[in-house]
Amino acid sequence: MEIFKRSSDMREWSDQMHRVGETISFVPTMGYLHEGHLSLIEKGKNISSSLVVSIFVNPTQFGENEDLNAYPTNIERDIELIKKKGANALFLPDKKEIYPENYQTYISLEYLPNHLCGISRPIHFRGVATIVAKLFNIVRPDAAIFGAKDFQQLQVIRQLNRDLNFGINIVGSPIVRESDGLAMSSRNAYLTSEQRQSALSLSQSLLKAKEMVESGERYANIIKSNIRNFIDSFPYTQIDYISICDPDTLNELIEIDREFLFALAVQVGKARLIDNMLIKPIS
Ligand code: AMP
Repeated sequence: MEIFKRSSDMREWSDQMHRVGETISFVPTMGYLHEGHLSLIEKGKNISSSLVVSIFVNPTQFGENEDLNAYPTNIERDIELIKKKGANALFLPDKKEIYPENYQTYISLEYLPNHLCGISRPIHFRGVATIVAKLFNIVRPDAAIFGAKDFQQLQVIRQLNRDLNFGINIVGSPIVRESDGLAMSSRNAYLTSEQRQSALSLSQSLLKAKEMVESGERYANIIKSNIRNFIDSFPYTQIDYISICDPDTLNELIEIDREFLFALAVQVGKARLIDNMLIKPIS
């Protein structure tokens, strides 16, 4: 597996691959890899003849009081895992390579960031859209694979891809969970064993909401307040949002009359955790 630290080397490699008729799948990550990331690599390998992974903890998507400096890292282990999965190249730039002195171009979307995580993380999606656009220009993939765990991010990237004519096949991949339901996340490393029990309230909430809808509940507020009480009953939890929204626009629904996204963000100890599920009412 090739490892590139410079954008120019990465791009040269991709251009050469394209010249000899290869197609490229791309999996961008912030490292500290788990089975969720590895599932994206596997999917990518099935779509294209070669696969590139990137690891970059992108500072511009972290707010001032967020966990940029605490973000877990284990590059040696990550490299071994990516190699074992059969990736062809790893792009591993440092901060200066991506944001050199006098860097000044950012990409902001008009509407999608005004919902869900974007409300409490106002600069987050500007950082995400900027880094993903830069990585797309450096890696020049034919397909890029993103996890449905970050549902809003996936929608932001689909929009970015359409709006800026990248022409990349954006592929969503299902949430990978621990056996007890907890969605895998690099941030789970922050949880103590007691907090981890409380973290289960997120995935359990998804199932509860689904049950309520399946037994006929159609008022979003009733479901939300039920779930709020449920999560509040766990220690160490602080709810950021509970949302019942349209999966495409992310606008909140008052009454459930079609498939919707049930999404939530909860601070559990030092970890801000998110989870979501698409739920279809049975009519
Ligand atoms: P991150 O390293 O957290 O920026 O995530 C890199 C990619 O992995 C993103 O596309 C995430 O949506 C995806 N991802 C993270 N956790 C999971 C998971 N549990 N299941 C599926 N994809 C995931």
